[in-house]
Amino acid sequence: MKYVSTRTQSQPLSFSQALAKGLASDGGLFVPEIFPSVDVASFSAEATIPDFAAQLLAPFLVGDDLQSRLAPICKAAFNFPIPLRFFGETPVNTGKSSSSGPAAVLELFHGPTAAFKDVGARFLAESIGRIPSETVRTVIVATSGDTGGAVGGAFVGQRGIEVLILFPKGKISARQEKQIACWGQNIKAFAVQGTFDDCQKIVKEALADSQLCRTKNFISANSISIGRLLPQMMYYAKSSLEFFAARGLAPNFIIPTGNLGNAVAALWAKRIGFPIGRVVLATNANRSISDFFESGVWKPSKTLATLANAMDVGNPSNMERLRMLYPTPDVLARDVQALAVSDDEIKSEIVSAFKSSGDIICPHTATAYGAQRKLAVTNAVVVATAHPSKFETIVEPLIGRTIPIPPALERLLSRNSVFTEIAPTLSALKNSLR
Ligand SMILES: *Cc1c(COP(=O)(O)O)cnc(C)c1O
Repeated sequence: MKYVSTRTQSQPLSFSQALAKGLASDGGLFVPEIFPSVDVASFSAEATIPDFAAQLLAPFLVGDDLQSRLAPICKAAFNFPIPLRFFGETPVNTGKSSSSGPAAVLELFHGPTAAFKDVGARFLAESIGRIPSETVRTVIVATSGDTGGAVGGAFVGQRGIEVLILFPKGKISARQEKQIACWGQNIKAFAVQGTFDDCQKIVKEALADSQLCRTKNFISANSISIGRLLPQMMYYAKSSLEFFAARGLAPNFIIPTGNLGNAVAALWAKRIGFPIGRVVLATNANRSISDFFESGVWKPSKTLATLANAMDVGNPSNMERLRMLYPTPDVLARDVQALAVSDDEIKSEIVSAFKSSGDIICPHTATAYGAQRKLAVTNAVVVATAHPSKFETIVEPLIGRTIPIPPALERLLSRNSVFTEIAPTLSALKNSLR
């Protein structure tokens, strides 16, 4: 299996090479050269997550140095549950469509930093840790909130790897900051006096600085890394089989969407043959994706700040992968829909989920509930991307009570924060690394 760029006919690379490189030389994103055909009947919905993931990902690593290490990588990375929870009566195989509300919720937030990014970040870390290297490698990442914590937690304690996380000072929640700055050891956090865009600019400049690259041996842990995207197919493939076994129908997934990484993974799982119906992209007020579905014209826009801040993206980078998968608007429309959900609707979904079932949902997850309701999607699986306790300042006033914090998150929040404050320039970062 080789990986090629979404843009030009680039040199095909192996999985490990694509992982180390991050972005293709022409600036495009890596995608599999061909999608393997998978014998879906040979998969069991009852398999453990590591076993299921290793079987699913095996054809994507054929011929790669990491192929023989796939089982231990999955075992180390996926050490937390990813439950598909049905609503209402215990699932029976009726072969009938569900009525109004969502049929089930896929909970992706039971990892160490309580957001779905743990899945991709932990697989990436375990993979990179097993690629032989003579020099210390430096993982560098800019974060607007959730990515930094997931990457820090995934790489902490790994020998031969140093991690630099850049976050915009004062622009993320207190709990998000704690998850980035609590790790110590080989994880270094930098509070940049600027915006997320400044952080991203410094990372890009660092990756392009040949002198710095010679001493640092950089690897990007950005969300466009193929090593973060591939493993996300696992929970869609597995839960689609669980849903099919319970209801006799293929589920439609409603996915809170920002950079489109999570949704592209679902569509890749569909492409290789798993029983997945439609995929609905639920966005916040950043409308570039829903506008594209309405008009057929792709026009990235400026980023708006919303209550679902991890989805505040005006120019989703994985659009290139989506458009490669569906080259024309009519084939895209057969499988995929998109809908923007406003901050007011996010708030009312949080309130109504709590009132109707006692469920406490995060602002990102609320966009999926909103899209399900507005489009009246049947056999809907809403995807829950983060634990609500990470966004307690938004959710608690709406539901009028305190949200219990999961034990893993509680442990992180009780640690000390250590970070270095820097001016928003590459030279400031270089100085503090000296
Ligand atoms: C990152 C994130 C998203 C958006 O995922 P994409 O893959 O960028 O579309 C949604 N919800 C939460 C909680 C996130 O952290």
